[in-house]
Amino acid sequence: MILIDGKKEAELLRQELKKEVSDLKEKYNRVPGLTVILIGDLAPSKIYVRNKEKFANEVGLKSDIIRYSESIEEKVVLDKIDELNKNATVSGILVQLPLPKHIDKKKIIEAINPLKDVDGFHPMNVGNLSSGYESSIPCTPMGCYLLIKKIEPNLSGKKAVVVGRSNLNGKPMTQLLLKENCTVTITHSKTKDLKAECLKADIIVAAVGIPELVKGDWVKKDTIVIDVGINKTDKGIVGDVAFDEVSKNAKALTPVPGGVGPMTIACLLKNTIDCFKRSQI
Ligand code: NAD
Repeated sequence: MILIDGKKEAELLRQELKKEVSDLKEKYNRVPGLTVILIGDLAPSKIYVRNKEKFANEVGLKSDIIRYSESIEEKVVLDKIDELNKNATVSGILVQLPLPKHIDKKKIIEAINPLKDVDGFHPMNVGNLSSGYESSIPCTPMGCYLLIKKIEPNLSGKKAVVVGRSNLNGKPMTQLLLKENCTVTITHSKTKDLKAECLKADIIVAAVGIPELVKGDWVKKDTIVIDVGINKTDKGIVGDVAFDEVSKNAKALTPVPGGVGPMTIACLLKNTIDCFKRSQI
């Protein structure tokens, strides 16, 4: 079984991106800039944002964090997004989710200029991705996609099962696999026989949020299994895949932690650079 080393793959991607940023600096005399808006005090959000800043700096991007208290008015955030949309030194804008209840997530996502939407959540980017046009692609599914392609460069005709249909993970993952000519089944909480669906798959991507949902006998021999889940349990952080059982059957499997997670941030940096490049055309 191939243990997919997301840390290593993310490091390799960051090295490529660092070189790209240095070339862009030479060509345009400036570097892509990422601005993150962090609202409130949630510990996981603070950790994610800190890591985003660390790796953005590492590859040479300009990185800013704008922090607001939990009680900030929605209008202040919308005005700030408007200002960042107009600021040519800002290539990418990310508003860290989740947001406090009084702030409308849809309004915030739609306020970001789609050309600076490094999360790929704006409806224009969602539409472009599903139409097969160029777009920002949500970072976690893009990371999964790159890991799958490393193992199996030609996905044409493969049967893929995506477990979970969130806008963040499952739906964009489905689009990326469709684009590669996979036959894709998207499953969710109302799916009748998840085990039977998984057993047909050459590729499984699990993005559910249920610890170790995908069991060893749900996976046929030689399946590539990508585990997006991050679940806190008594025995520590585990994924949505029962790692020990599934590793006996799978052709390749991502660990949790150290699989998809590191790729997510590397893909955010890639999206920032791609937004910068598109803005230079
Ligand atoms: P979500 O809660 O938005 O969506 C979960 C999906 O799972 C839903 O579509 C639901 O229908 C489906 N589901 C629920 N129960 C199911 C069941 N019994 N069988 C099949 N499907 C079922 O979750 P999300 O935001 O997509 O996140 C999923 C997991 O991925 C979480 O553990 C989250 O922490 C993790 N995550 C990891 C990263 C990363 O970088 N590795 C990024 C984002 C999210």
